[in-house]
Amino acid sequence: MSSVIAPLSRPVVSWSPPDPADRRRSPQTRRTALITALGVTAAAISAFFGNEAIFVIAFLFVISWPLERIWRRHPVPVRRLALRTDLAYAAASPALIFAGTVVAAVLAVVSLMWLPGLAFRPLVRSLPVWLELVVGVLLFDVLIYWTHRWSHTVPLLWRFHAVHHSTRHLDWVSGFRNHPLDGAFMAPVFAFFIGAGFDGRITGGLAAVQFVIGLWAHLNVRWRLRPLHRIVLTPDFHHWHHANQPEAHNTNFSTFLPLWDIVFGSYYMPADQRPQRYGVDDPVPLTIGRQLAYPFRGLRSAFRERRRARRATAG
Ligand SMILES: [Zn+2]
Ligand SMILES: [Zn+2]
Repeated sequence: MSSVIAPLSRPVVSWSPPDPADRRRSPQTRRTALITALGVTAAAISAFFGNEAIFVIAFLFVISWPLERIWRRHPVPVRRLALRTDLAYAAASPALIFAGTVVAAVLAVVSLMWLPGLAFRPLVRSLPVWLELVVGVLLFDVLIYWTHRWSHTVPLLWRFHAVHHSTRHLDWVSGFRNHPLDGAFMAPVFAFFIGAGFDGRITGGLAAVQFVIGLWAHLNVRWRLRPLHRIVLTPDFHHWHHANQPEAHNTNFSTFLPLWDIVFGSYYMPADQRPQRYGVDDPVPLTIGRQLAYPFRGLRSAFRERRRARRATAG
């Protein structure tokens, strides 16, 4: 992963990444148990008030689990490395999504991206409904492509996104491993859409579709679905995005249409190979509590060091 000044993306600690074949479970810490219990309580409370997220997750589990058992790609045992961490993310997802949404709302306002949105409003209003839908989907997808790409290349954003990439095994439950602030960085895109007056159902619908595609993309299934490779995101496509192999670094950023990777030169789908190794070399911890704190670790000293380096370059 490229970075301009290394310390901001690579906290300096002694670290030896776990072996990809390592199948230990993540350690049971008191913090993991507490976050899981709080997450389950929050999910139960939100379900009581009509939030269906937890039922959707249960439904997705019922669909995904047999698919991964029947058409399994990598021989990952049920109790694989850090499964407990990802289950904790799944249980806490309604609470984490809520926390991320609060931060996203603030970022959406202060990003001022609703201002250029307002400039486009008359144009959007003049479009027939079908064209507004087509333009909305394409624009949303290309903006998310670039936000995702910057999450890999801007060191500060990578700290948050590295949590998602830290999983050593891809399966449906690993798709839940997202730092709540990672998704919040997409807020300027939503601000632009709201400012431009796109139908709220387009943005809301696309956000929901992204959530489901997120789980589909990580499935541990051996389907190649080759005819679809260049048309729509497949698990094979996203597995290459997660591959910790030099030839696959910074590729396949698209979250819906691979078209953007083809256009911007980051498409990578070798016909005769399959990704073998997932994860990152960054020292991302194994448990959820530490992962949520990870992006902030040494952040202040990293900023100080960066300022010093900038001054030295300017002088
Ligand atoms: Zn990524
Ligand atoms: Zn992913």
